[in-house]
Amino acid sequence: MKILNFPMITIVATTTCNYSCYYCNPKGEGHSCEYGEIDPNLLSMLIKCAQSEGFHSFRLTGGEVTISKYFKKYCAVIFSAKKKGCYATMNTNGSSWEKLIPIFKEMPINLIRISFDAIDNTIFQKMSGSSNYSKVIEGIDMMLYHKIPIQINMVVTKSNFNNISKMIDFCKQRQINLKLLDYELGNKKTIDVWNNEFVNLQYLRNSLRNKYGSEGYFRTTGGYGMAMEVFKVDNIFIRIKDSTVSSTYHPTCISSCSLFPCPEGVFSLIVRPDRTITWCRRRKELSIPIGFSFKTIRNALKSAIKTMNECVEVWHDSLTPSETGVESIMTSEMIGKSASQISNSLKIKGISEIPRYDRC
Ligand code: SF4
Repeated sequence: MKILNFPMITIVATTTCNYSCYYCNPKGEGHSCEYGEIDPNLLSMLIKCAQSEGFHSFRLTGGEVTISKYFKKYCAVIFSAKKKGCYATMNTNGSSWEKLIPIFKEMPINLIRISFDAIDNTIFQKMSGSSNYSKVIEGIDMMLYHKIPIQINMVVTKSNFNNISKMIDFCKQRQINLKLLDYELGNKKTIDVWNNEFVNLQYLRNSLRNKYGSEGYFRTTGGYGMAMEVFKVDNIFIRIKDSTVSSTYHPTCISSCSLFPCPEGVFSLIVRPDRTITWCRRRKELSIPIGFSFKTIRNALKSAIKTMNECVEVWHDSLTPSETGVESIMTSEMIGKSASQISNSLKIKGISEIPRYDRC
């Protein structure tokens, strides 16, 4: 019997946000669907159904979930999944911490990821379009005080690259793990900003590796998405999401998608307010309607998981296999070619060779 690699289910609960980060697409992680909010009753059905099928990791995101009128209901749904042994997390920009803390004290989840891009008011404001800098720091300290498990996510661009060491010190002082993400090109409309602001994190990874050694590469739940290198820096873990290293793709991504290799690849199933589920964040036509009943939801999940289990891992040409320390599909003649050139000559790994991880 084939063992399924169950991915995380990302729930884009709302497409609305109170920030305007220049590196983020309108509608956030739901950028290829219409504006809206997920019906909490439908979400509850979906999570129950997914759990009965074997899914065990759920992440609430947006937009900014805390500003939704359904926020508490969404939290109750993922809390109920956590009570049954699932891994439940949420992304937020931390601006509504007064609302968030009482809810998560009552209904604790595994991790809250706070997007926070600088230890500097001016840089923070430039990147987020928000004046909440001091408020977010206060919120981080209040969440720690209330023992709510948090991680900081920092998108690294030219604007805040020189602020990374301050962020690491901030996290070390508070014993918070840090995830550094490169700036993924969202769409062709934002290519000028991306060209001006993109920073390749390979240099940062090399310097952290030289100083602290590497803890290895980890992927997200089920072994999908990018291989992210992890470093232990004093008392905290720093994980680096460098989209130039590798990601996971479906064979049809490689054979027929003009966006291949898109930076994030296939990392999760994504549920969106337009009542669809998808394994591709960018192409609307690949969305699967989930309908209104347990039967239609179950069928959509089965179809999506089947597609995800056909995926393969693809290493880009910024690293050689020996540098990664991880078995790779790259052959020596591919090194030095661009990712799109590689796509024409890939040797595809079988599904059984995708590593299995419960979560990361
Ligand atoms: S994940 Fe979507 S956008 Fe990316 S290569 Fe595959 S089909 Fe294209």
